[in-house]
Amino acid sequence: MTATASRVLVLNSGSSSVKYQLLDMEPDSAGGSAAGTRLAVGLVERIGEETSRLAHTPLATGGGTRETEGPIADHEAALKAVAAELSADGLGLDSPQLAAIGHRVVHGGLKFTAPTVIDDAVLKEIERLVPVAPLHNPANITGIRTAQALRPDLPQVAVFDTAFHTTMPEYAARYAIDVETADAHRIRRYGFHGTSHAYVSRKTAGLLGKDPSEVNVIVLHLGNGASASAVAGGRCVDTSMGLTPLEGLVMGTRSGDIDPAVTFHLKRVAGMSEDDVDVLLNKKSGLVGLCGDNDMREIRRRIDEGDERARLAFDIYIHRLKKYIGAYTAVLGRVDAVAFTAGVGENAAPVRAAAVAGLEEMGLAVDADLNAVRSGEPRLISPEYARVAVAVVPTDEELEIAQQTYALVNA
Ligand code: AMP
Repeated sequence: MTATASRVLVLNSGSSSVKYQLLDMEPDSAGGSAAGTRLAVGLVERIGEETSRLAHTPLATGGGTRETEGPIADHEAALKAVAAELSADGLGLDSPQLAAIGHRVVHGGLKFTAPTVIDDAVLKEIERLVPVAPLHNPANITGIRTAQALRPDLPQVAVFDTAFHTTMPEYAARYAIDVETADAHRIRRYGFHGTSHAYVSRKTAGLLGKDPSEVNVIVLHLGNGASASAVAGGRCVDTSMGLTPLEGLVMGTRSGDIDPAVTFHLKRVAGMSEDDVDVLLNKKSGLVGLCGDNDMREIRRRIDEGDERARLAFDIYIHRLKKYIGAYTAVLGRVDAVAFTAGVGENAAPVRAAAVAGLEEMGLAVDADLNAVRSGEPRLISPEYARVAVAVVPTDEELEIAQQTYALVNA
């Protein structure tokens, strides 16, 4: 790495997509920590299909989004196409200014408690975790291998979705099942969205003018996937997702918490296969299963028109959310703030209002005017008298990955 190397490429590789951001992490002139300036952002989707699409926005040059459509066969071709787009803006991956590539890796098991420079042993361990993350880790591995081939000399860093949750005490992480069976198959609660929970809990502390070690925060990451976490003094002590991202809150297409016997029943009585049940619970449940829509905007529009199915889906979603706020209040003992984040949490004021409605006894309230403000900035939406702050804190997983990656390669 040269002295001028201050750029980090963040890659989030899915099974048929690659999201990327190139950030400049140069420390500020006061010598403070890197704030991160976005130089380019983009997305390759439908990899492996005839209709692949690359959308690239070169923020550094102020240029508009360039979209190209046409077959992109695999992740290698996708990354090469991204590299070509970046080169066209003078931001090529061959630049000596590139310090590292940071990869989002969904499952790090128990071993990876922090961002890690990837070598053969690390890659093998990520591979060993494929059985507990069959949908995500293989795509992440492909992304890493492809990036390594492109820049073998560059540090590649894995930032794990599970890492923030590895501080959960054993009594929160273990399922109450036979210990030998659980250990033999690494069955326990790992939690996901950790990069977001880490970022948002820290930002929330900042919003309160406190150090993260001084505050207890409930983070509600409500996107298409959704999870809650209880963060005590900067450390995660409980989270709603489990062995997989299926557990917990009602999500866009996932059921969240469910009696596991439902799965036996579907197999025995409805004649469904393992895969059928998997698809049902992960893709055809949650809001989409309940009312046919998983976009909260559409659900709210339907409710305004008097649609009963949309109303019930919304009520089920809110009921589950409330249960987790209550549960994590009990887990934390004292709550300083509840922070809403991600697509729904940041944008859907009616969800925020409904989630804390009736919880005044627990010190929670939302100021209707503050809640109605639309902004991309972290902000408080609780009235001054409320004992617990309610905050909206836009998440930024890419920035968090870039910061962790940059800090690690400069350590
Ligand atoms: P995410 O997974 O964080 O990108 O969140 C995606 C979800 O956010 C979508 O499925 C919508 O339900 C929700 N969302 C995005 N924008 C809005 C909005 N303006 N109002 C309500 N919900 C929104």
